[in-house]
Amino acid sequence: MLRYLLNFIFPPSCAGCAARMPIEAANRVCAPCLAGIDRLREPLCAVCGIPVGADGAWCGRCSAAPPHFGRARAIAAYRDGVAEDAGVIGSIIRRHKYGLDQSLSRALAECLGTGLPLGDSDYDLIIPVPLHRSRLRWRGFNQAAMLGATVARRLARPLDLTNLTRLRATPPQTARDRRERRQNIHNAFAVRRPARVANRSVLLVDDVMTTGATADECARTLLRAGARRVDVLTLARVL
Ligand SMILES: [Zn+2]
Ligand SMILES: [Zn+2]
Repeated sequence: MLRYLLNFIFPPSCAGCAARMPIEAANRVCAPCLAGIDRLREPLCAVCGIPVGADGAWCGRCSAAPPHFGRARAIAAYRDGVAEDAGVIGSIIRRHKYGLDQSLSRALAECLGTGLPLGDSDYDLIIPVPLHRSRLRWRGFNQAAMLGATVARRLARPLDLTNLTRLRATPPQTARDRRERRQNIHNAFAVRRPARVANRSVLLVDDVMTTGATADECARTLLRAGARRVDVLTLARVL
């Protein structure tokens, strides 16, 4: 009854385009938006997941300097900075970046679809990329944690929100080149209780991957703490 009233006062809307949704709609992404998601398809770099020429190939960057994570995959391509071209995922990410919305996790779950783009890999633990507490306080929630919760539910695996922590509030990564990003993020994370990740296979979750410097540094930190393997899943991959 309460839910019905809330839906009546705040009619559900699509997380992608804000179109009104039927009150009984179970998801929060309308069918045209869902169909319009710019999904990444094979052939993708066997390591970092960007489009490459042939199945199983490694991209130039991964060949030159292999990252610490085993494999990174994203649901969709995200063409950063091109507002009109950012697609459904870009729109969802922008809409939710600065405001708390409970429908986000349902929208994300919807975008994830039935299978994750990581094949049949099995993970012991789901860990979202943490925000520094100052930024968490300012923003109110961590998108990566919401996505992590959705993934953990889907895989029926435990979610750990507290073990990996961000020691420094790093400046926004957007306007930096690769090397700057890497230096900027170096030693920015720590594992509080290494015993909890020791010999575990970890799926690291974030909303957007750009150069991969953040995910790589998280992976490096987790591996140093004893994790056996770290793979990465992001909602969007900036191309
Ligand atoms: Zn829509
Ligand atoms: Zn690669």
